[in-house]
Order: sequence, then C-alpha cells, then structure tokens
Amino acid sequence: MAKQLVEQITNMDKDFAQWYTDVVTKAELIDYSSVRGSMIIRPYGYAIWENIKASLDQEIKDTGHENVYMPLLIPESLLQKEKDHIKGFAPEVAWVTHGGDEKLAERLCIRPTSEVLFAEHYKNIIHSYRDLPKLYNQWSNVVRWEKTTRPFLRTLEFLWQEGHTCHETEDEAQKETLKMLDVYADICERVLAIPVIKGRKTEKEKFAGAKSTYTIESLMHDGKALQSGTSHNFGTGFAETFGIEFLNREGKLQPVHQTSWGFTTRIIGAMIMVHGDDKGLVLPPAIAPTQVQIVPIAQHKEGVLDAAYEIHHSLQTSLRVSIDASDKKPGWKFNESEMKGIPIRLEIGPKDIENGKVVLVRRDTGEKIDVKNHEIETAIERLLQEIQSSLYEKALEHRLTKTSVAVNMDEFKDNLLQVGGFIKAMWCGDQACEDQIKEQTQATSRCIPFEEKGVSDTCVYCGRAAKELVYWAKAY
Ligand code: AMP
Repeated sequence: MAKQLVEQITNMDKDFAQWYTDVVTKAELIDYSSVRGSMIIRPYGYAIWENIKASLDQEIKDTGHENVYMPLLIPESLLQKEKDHIKGFAPEVAWVTHGGDEKLAERLCIRPTSEVLFAEHYKNIIHSYRDLPKLYNQWSNVVRWEKTTRPFLRTLEFLWQEGHTCHETEDEAQKETLKMLDVYADICERVLAIPVIKGRKTEKEKFAGAKSTYTIESLMHDGKALQSGTSHNFGTGFAETFGIEFLNREGKLQPVHQTSWGFTTRIIGAMIMVHGDDKGLVLPPAIAPTQVQIVPIAQHKEGVLDAAYEIHHSLQTSLRVSIDASDKKPGWKFNESEMKGIPIRLEIGPKDIENGKVVLVRRDTGEKIDVKNHEIETAIERLLQEIQSSLYEKALEHRLTKTSVAVNMDEFKDNLLQVGGFIKAMWCGDQACEDQIKEQTQATSRCIPFEEKGVSDTCVYCGRAAKELVYWAKAY
C-alpha cells in the first residue's frame, strides 16, 4: 500500500510533462475545475502561495509601496484608449456582455492587467509634484484567455501582484523599474532558491505599451526556460494618453513617468520544476508550509506519542512543524511527506527514546542524521539553512551545465539538441533574425542580460555586426 503513492508518479526523465501533472495533483496543490485552464488551488498549494506572498509583500512595503484594490471590470472604451496595449491584450480578453438578462450598453472586460484602471485613477489624484511619487501595488486575480494552459505556469485566471507607480522624472522611473526587478530576483534566489538571469526583453518580446520590459528568467529541470517576473518602464506613454499630468517644480504641466511590475502564481510551477524529483515536490524551507514533520514510529508503544508531542510542542514556537499521529503505516507517512516536499522528517521510536535521540531525514538528499534530544532545535535550524542554500547551489549548477555558447546556427542547433537549456549568442538587433531563429529552432530570445561580456562580434543568424548578447531558449 505504501508504495502506491510513489509509483503513481511518472519518472521525470521519462515524461517530464506527465511528472509535473502528477506532482501538482498528488501533492494536493491543485484540482482541475470545470472551466478549461482554470484551477482550484487547494489548501497546501494556497499555503505555499501565502508564504511567497508574505515575503514579497514585505519587500514591496519595505521599498515604500502601498497596497490598494482596483475593480475587476474595465469598460471597453477605457481599455481601447492605449492602442498598443489593447492590440497586445485583445486576443486574451474575456468580456462581460450581460447583467442578468440585459445586454450591457458597453461591454466590460475582466482585467487581464490593470494599467488603464490605475491610469484613470492617477489622472484624478495627481496634480502636483508634491503628489509624487505614487507607489501603489495590488494583490488580485486577473484573467487572460490563454490558448494552451498548464497548472500554475499558464492559467486562464491567475493570482498576482501588480505594482503601478508614477514619478516626476525619467531617471526615477527607470530606477524604480530596476529596483523591483531586483526585489523579484531576491525573492526567487533567497526565498525560493531559484537562480535567475536578469535582463531586458527585446522589442518583440516587450509588454504591450511599454518603453522597455525587464525580466528574470529561470531554467527548469528539463532545460526549458521560464519568464518568472517582469518589470516595465512605460515612459510617459500611458500618461500622455490618459492625461496624467502634474505641475512640476517650475510650475509647468508635464506627464508623469510610469512603471508597472508583476509576479504570479506561475512561480509555484517554477519551484516545482526546479527542485522536484521522482518522489515528488521538494520545497525550499523558507516557504514550506510545514518545515518539519514528526513521524512517530511504533506509536502504539508506551511513551512514543507523548515524546513525539513533547517535541512538537517545543518546536512549535520557532518553526512550522506538524505531527502525523494518524493510524497510517510509517512507510506511507514517509512517502506522503516526501511527496509534499517537507524539508525535514523527524522520526522518533522506542529505541530512539531509550537512547535520548531522534532521527532527522533530509528531503532533498535522503540523508539520515541522529541528533541528541538537547540539540534538536539547533540542529534543525542549521539543517533548514543548509537545505535552503544547497537547493540554490544545485539549481545554479544545473543551469550552468545547461548554458552553452553558439557563434553560428550550426552550433546553435547542435547545442539545443545536445545540451538544451540556455544558449548565449550574439544578435544584430534585427527582428527578422530573431523571428528566423524561433522559426528554425523554436528557441526564443529570453533576455539581453545585464553586465555580461559578448561571446563574438557577429550575429549568430545573419553574420552582420552584433549589437547585443542574448540568452535564447525553448521556453514555457
Ligand atoms: P505581464 O503583465 O504580461 O508582464 O505578466 C507578468 C508576469 O505574469 C509574467 O512575467 C509571467 O511570469 C506571468 N504570467 C503571464 N501570463 C501568465 C499566465 N497565463 N498564468 C500565470 N502567470 C502568467
């Protein structure tokens, strides 16, 4: 019986897509709903999101932003105002056409993102340089009518935060755009143990209506990249369209400079695909809903459950700890806690009690460590830190071994086949080359990285003089 739970997971190297589907359902993160591409986030999945949200929300507030809440519905006329924006989002928008039985005079769209709502509001509340900067953020759901969907990675409805800010100067807006990209990178690397590459999107890949888009890109176990968060500098584009103007310090009317940035439930998918293994989820301790699970062994024997509860009680104040005192067999409990990616399992049985110790088992490596009773708390704290940093190191090493350089298309195609992952290659800046690379290889430009040296002088596709180094990859 204990074996079944694990046997039902497909081997990740055999069929990664099926492995992913198995993990999200068997680890009880989600259930499918009756609307294609929508998912029910179950308590365990939602607890993970709440922990990620708490860390990010703290950083958003620490950097001076305030939370607000905007309405769900956008009048069509408002969405139509910014031409690039509507052009980019039109194919993904869901419309409300009726209220009850009555046809609405104007269609309302369910927000795919809230730029225009913020713009309308900012127009009303910003008048002077004294009203700036405005640093707003909202936590909400949005709907994008995606063609192909996958739990967490790409869903019709997803949860996110979207920051929207207004500034006096171009320089200030640019600093804000990059600062929030840094915040995202920090959440990914420090909290989720996912290494990222920071960079700028090409014109083709940038956000509809933005002057420039910046991204953090991460690499999954199967060698595919994932755009994990984006930060946009809008310049004065939206402000000019919507008339968000202020009297500057010289008494002249001028449009504000704006930014927006978003981070979504997609990141849970990244965490699964970066750290997971054939036993299921592997969660970074910083966001694991349960960091330590206590499993009593031979719990019917006298004193075992008492000792287990005593440890539970003493750890509860400083750690997220749970105890499985159900009547399931220990082997079954082990499998369950492995499937759920709980970072440490603490086993305690009659022999351990006799010897004044417990056994700690690491989820990431399977290593078993005997720990004396008086050292349990310090040993666990040390081990959680060790797991957190070793997950990061392992993911970084994986990315590095799956990052290669190509100076011509033969190398590019060969690397994609042999190594997969990221390919670093030069680009002339012409979108035609970018399109051709995608057409021939399915790899897309992921980002133009910050502060990295070029790898050759000529465009990998056309051989003309190169302008930029680009990270390319097949992506989710
Ligand atoms: P955007 O507003 O288009 O810049 O999107 C912000 C971030 O949302 C992107 O960087 C993606 O990581 C994420 N994202 C985009 N579409 C989806 C989706 N359908 N489901 C989940 N996350 C998404």
